[in-house]
Amino acid sequence: MTICLGIEGTAHTIGVGIIKSDKGRCQVLSNVIKGYHPEKGGIHPREAANHHATYVADVLSDSIKKAGVVFSAVDLISFSQGPGLGPCLRTVATAARALSLKLKKPLLGVNHCVAHLEIGRGTIPECIDPVLLYVSGANTQVIGFAEGKYRVFGETLDIGLGNCLDKFGRSLDLEFPAGPKIEELAKKSKTYVKLPYSIKGMDIAFSGLLTAAMQEKKQGTSVEDICFSIQETAFAALTEVTERAMAHTEKKEVLLGGGVACNMRLRSMVETMAKARGARFFVPSRNLCVDNGAMIAWLGLLMYESGIRMTIEDSMINQRFRTDMVQVAWR
Ligand code: AMP
Ligand code: MG
Repeated sequence: MTICLGIEGTAHTIGVGIIKSDKGRCQVLSNVIKGYHPEKGGIHPREAANHHATYVADVLSDSIKKAGVVFSAVDLISFSQGPGLGPCLRTVATAARALSLKLKKPLLGVNHCVAHLEIGRGTIPECIDPVLLYVSGANTQVIGFAEGKYRVFGETLDIGLGNCLDKFGRSLDLEFPAGPKIEELAKKSKTYVKLPYSIKGMDIAFSGLLTAAMQEKKQGTSVEDICFSIQETAFAALTEVTERAMAHTEKKEVLLGGGVACNMRLRSMVETMAKARGARFFVPSRNLCVDNGAMIAWLGLLMYESGIRMTIEDSMINQRFRTDMVQVAWR
């Protein structure tokens, strides 16, 4: 097995990535994504699925072209089996099954969250055994490998931080995704407004933070100050939980993943924490942080090479596919 084609489509992004294994390292040949951006409101699962169905063929042929390979050179097809939005997952699974049958190549469904971690390990040579802080729209988890599995050491109890930022952004009439715009607004302030900092054990909650931020806005607090304060509060909480996971597992590496990992303030906070502990800080390139097909392809290849196989019948999607349900045969 040398070349794997991976299809991502758990939520707002349809992506096809083609990767090659090069002496155990991941070489990305192409990684094409297309995002669904609702005109109003949040992501509607069926509309997002329609978007994926509309564009999957274009994204696929674009990715093949950019990789400079022919379909017959692909050895393996993988797809995001979960967790995610049901209609989106089903659309992508159907496309992956059809491609696998047509090309007569094996098929593997992979866990989206584990893919975020493995792409960091696969593309950053020094990154070997990290704690992953994975912060995306729907997911916020602190993940590490322990006792034969990827375990969730802490996670959000309600909404993902990206969703929290996007929702607050909608109240300001910012376009989706609002995270990058909130980052820009936050740069214009240094005034901290007190917002709820909720950590319960190793878990975090963001809905109280969102409500309080909306309240501040109604009371006329400057938008820049609120944006600054949301970031400081949420990122500090994430950094705290990540640090405790590192202390508990005695891991000396921290890796960022997910769309929110593009945020420079989050990066700098986690990097400062890592330095203070004598640990190393890693973040994959931007196009590998966000949802993408290359990470799905890479995890598919790791699984296949470790002997894992899947029939079409086994390839049902799982909206609630937990990180610790994954059989890890490659480590
Ligand atoms: P993902 O689901 O991993 O593709 O990530 C999408 C989420 O990342 C959305 O909720 C975005 O608002 C958020 N995001 C993207 N860039 C940034 C940024 N620079 N700062 C904060 N959040 C961001
Ligand atoms: Mg993701």
